Amino acid sequence: MLPTITLIGLPTDQHSSFLRGPALAPAAIRAALASSHGNSASERGTEIGLDFLLDDRGDIGLQEDVGDDDRIRAAVAACSGPVIALGGDHAISFPVVETLAARHGAFDILHFDAHPDLYDELDGDRRSHASPFARIMEGGHAQRLVQVGIRTLNRHCREQAARFGVEIIEARHLHDGWRPKFERPLYVSIDLDALDPAFAPGVSHHEPGGMSVRQIINILLDLDVPIIGGDVVEMNPTRDINGMTAVVAAKLVKELAAAIAANMQR
Ligand code: MN
Ligand code: MN
Repeated sequence: MLPTITLIGLPTDQHSSFLRGPALAPAAIRAALASSHGNSASERGTEIGLDFLLDDRGDIGLQEDVGDDDRIRAAVAACSGPVIALGGDHAISFPVVETLAARHGAFDILHFDAHPDLYDELDGDRRSHASPFARIMEGGHAQRLVQVGIRTLNRHCREQAARFGVEIIEARHLHDGWRPKFERPLYVSIDLDALDPAFAPGVSHHEPGGMSVRQIINILLDLDVPIIGGDVVEMNPTRDINGMTAVVAAKLVKELAAAIAANMQR
């Protein structure tokens, strides 16, 4: 039996603060994954279908109402092994992480983003896509939260980070050789706006001065602990150019799945 990673699509952007659009992302990412523009090889040398499998359960039927968190929890709970969630805006990470933490106990989180997403609330919404990691840390679902690529820290979020003991590697301090070290099982959350808009224009919040695709992939390639799941979020197809951000998202899904599979066999 080959290592199998479950994909679930979470087509929602009800908690976005600026633009809608990420609800359209799961279909765009799937199309890029299936496209004949590329092949099934990961940079580790493993291949989808030969060395590991993606079990795509399709999109969860979401209603853009308060019941969606329970629909997401039920969908994640129905997956027995590691899960990659295709967002959707970043608000989806909270019910996904909460459900996996109920199964595994608190784990570590590696979070790529331009934004720390630690707001206590934004525009009156405590479930805002700017708040999932405040909810995760309040719930005690992460032992360590390591955020990479951050370049929008305001006073409130600095205070929240200090309150929760978040480890932040700001974009200005990141260098190509930097690698995180983890000892516990890991969840990997990839907000595509961690990337510089030059690499990923199809996001709602363009924040210049970001990471390269190469930097994120190289970090994924060196992960050496069990990975229980992850998400790729905040792709906005209405802002994309020639589908290039969909291809970036699909490549990161493939490399994240390959990292999960490689560490299942250890
Ligand atoms: Mn985010
Ligand atoms: Mn972001």
